[in-house]
Amino acid sequence: MTYAFDPGPLPAVPVAGTDTLYPVRRIYCVGRNYVEHAQEMGFTGREPPFFFAKPADAVVVVADGETGAIPYPTRTSNLHYEMELVVAIGRRGSDIPAAQAAQYIFGYALGLDMTRRDLQQELRKQGRPWELGKGYDHSAPIGPIHPIASTGEITAGHIWLDLNGERKQDSDIRKLIWNVNETIEHLSGYFELNPGDLIYSGTPEGVGAVKSGDLIVGGVDGLGELRVKVA
Ligand code: MN
Repeated sequence: MTYAFDPGPLPAVPVAGTDTLYPVRRIYCVGRNYVEHAQEMGFTGREPPFFFAKPADAVVVVADGETGAIPYPTRTSNLHYEMELVVAIGRRGSDIPAAQAAQYIFGYALGLDMTRRDLQQELRKQGRPWELGKGYDHSAPIGPIHPIASTGEITAGHIWLDLNGERKQDSDIRKLIWNVNETIEHLSGYFELNPGDLIYSGTPEGVGAVKSGDLIVGGVDGLGELRVKVA
């Protein structure tokens, strides 16, 4: 059998320090995972973790040292940045205890969970799914994946974002409400995790809107910088 049409290339992210690519299978995201961000969204920050997803081909791969570009999406007038630590899964597993979760981590990357905030908030109010606000095309810019063998386990470190050179987000990975290992424990209770699964772990406070022409630069200690221009 052949495919009825060319399926095109797999979405894939370069693995830093190698000439290999990490093929993306799924993109999971954690909602409201820093207390002060939950509060700025109108919540207390005291709830079990919850998840949403983006399609794998929502990734916009930005090579090290380069500036990526994302189009300003349709049907929004309130496009927000959310700087996040991304965890790349490297082993298959279900019901993974937090104490063993690090064994399932392939590596880490910098990511932006771009959000049509106006749509997301309207959908939330109506009790509808978030896809239109979160899972749209080009909504998941990502930098190279740094293997855990080179970074070690990331449980702390500065996470920040500058918009046009002005600091907007400024926090620490240790402030995650559900840390990476706990997130993997919860998520793997709902889904079998597989190599190729990315987890956007949540954003700290300070989210805000961008407009065409803006430059977003964000980072996490040890992972360099992610630079994205809004076209
Ligand atoms: Mn997010």
